[in-house]
This record gives sequence, C-alpha cells and structure tokens, in this order.
Amino acid sequence: MADPSWKLDQAARDFAMSKGEEIAKLNCFHTAPVDPFKVIASESNQILAEGDDFRDSFDGRLSYHDGRFLLLYNTKYNQWPHNGSEHSKVRFTVAHELGHYYLDRHREFLVQRRQAIESFTEFESDKEVERQADAFAAGLLMPKYLVGPQVNCELDSTMESIKQAANRFDVSLTSMMVRWTQLSDFPCATLCVRDSVIQWGFASEAFKRIGLWRTRRNVAPSSGDAKCFVGADSSCSIFREGDGVGRAHQWLEGNCDVIDVQEFYLVIPYSRCVMVFLAADEDELPSQWDDRD
Ligand SMILES: [Zn+2]
Repeated sequence: MADPSWKLDQAARDFAMSKGEEIAKLNCFHTAPVDPFKVIASESNQILAEGDDFRDSFDGRLSYHDGRFLLLYNTKYNQWPHNGSEHSKVRFTVAHELGHYYLDRHREFLVQRRQAIESFTEFESDKEVERQADAFAAGLLMPKYLVGPQVNCELDSTMESIKQAANRFDVSLTSMMVRWTQLSDFPCATLCVRDSVIQWGFASEAFKRIGLWRTRRNVAPSSGDAKCFVGADSSCSIFREGDGVGRAHQWLEGNCDVIDVQEFYLVIPYSRCVMVFLAADEDELPSQWDDRD
C-alpha cells in the first residue's frame, strides 16, 4: 500500500531539516549561534541578499535572474528589541529562504518557472513548500548536534532553559520552543494562540506515543488558566509571561486518560500571538507496553 500523503509530507520536512543541519556542518558551525548571513557570504557568487522594510508584503522572497538568486528579507521586525544586528525573526527568514535555495525541488521551481517564491516564515504558513523551508531553517539555525545535548539533560524542561537556549542560538522563543519540543524525549508541546484561537502546534514524540498524536487547531483554548492569561490583553502588543495548569487533552487530539500539564504562556509582540509550552510529568503517562518485569 502506498504511504499516505501525510507520511510523505513528514518525510519531506524531515529531509529538509537534515539538509539544513548538513549545511550548518558544512559551514563549520561548531558552536552556537549559527549565522545564516555567513552561509550567504559563502554563496556570494550565486546569491545577492538585500534587506528592507517590506511592511506586510512578505517575510522573505527568493527569485532567479540570469544565473543568480535575489534574496529579499523583511527588516520590519527590527523595530522590536533584539540582540544582534538583526531580529531573530529576520535571521529565521534568511535561513528559510536559504531552504528554497538549497532544496533541489525548490531551486528547480525557481530556475525553470522563473517565478519568485514569497514567504511567510516561522511556522505561519500551511503550504508544504513553506513548511519544508521552515524545517530547513530550524535545522540550520538549531542543528540537532548543537541543541540536542541540552534538551534532554534535565528532567524538567523549564521555560528558563528554553529562554537560555534561544539566547545562545540567537533565535526567537517561538523557534526554540518548537525545536525543543521536536528534540525532547519528554512529554511536551508548543502551540501558538492568535486571536484567541490555536493556530498551529507541535507535540513531542512522548505524547504521540501514547496516542496524543497532534495539537488541536482552529479552536479556542479550553484551559481556564490559559483563557484567563490570553484574555488579560488580547492585543498581544506587550511582552508578558505567566503559567498555569490544565489537561493534555485540552490542547492535544487523540485518545488518552486524563493527564495534568503545566502550562507556560509568553506573549510574542512581533507576531501578535501567545506561545504556549506544555509539559507533563513523565511518570504520570500511561505506559505504552505491558510491564513484564
Ligand atoms: Zn518560503
């Protein structure tokens, strides 16, 4: 029987992510942070990159002209506080556009069709090519060989560890929460709530294994503490954080017993959303297999 399409989609995203990690390795990034502008510099005979405030037109745009690629990135996000010369969202966008350059099918599209690819980055788009480029960017900026050792060294993933890692890698909290979830051996999940609705999310393998196979989408959060936090300022224009408690099934789809989760909330003003990180106690999960000593 042929693989269902979601499996093929997942395989394509996994491939894109490993391609990003490969490019990080090839460019000799042995410590954090990975600088996507250095990768561009290494391809300077092929890529011309220019940043400008493109308002709400796109986060990034890649096109092909006479043997070279023009990479445009939106610097409007630099109006929010940031560490280095560019906001972490801008760095992510540049890494995402590099995905369209390095992934063969994306590059073929650009060269053969002579059409530009315009992007909205950092997990905002549902289009598969965009998800692949996001996966490439996550692999490039947060390669498993650099992030992985830090993710599973603590029993309790706290927001503090995630914030420190985001700082070290000069990526947004949003990106690091997603990457942390993907690499975690523990039951955790990351979700984005905008306009009081869950927009997208990622669940860790430990949740998937017990049947909570994906995050809910396009519904309002039902956790009381989360509703209270989100309701306090729905404009999401100022950074705030908080925490609460809820149940895993309020956020995740699937069949499972009641599992308590800790909830951490962070308002991300540049993308006008609330990011939610969930963590459950591993010992409270139902065991997947019968105990046979
Ligand atoms: Zn894109």
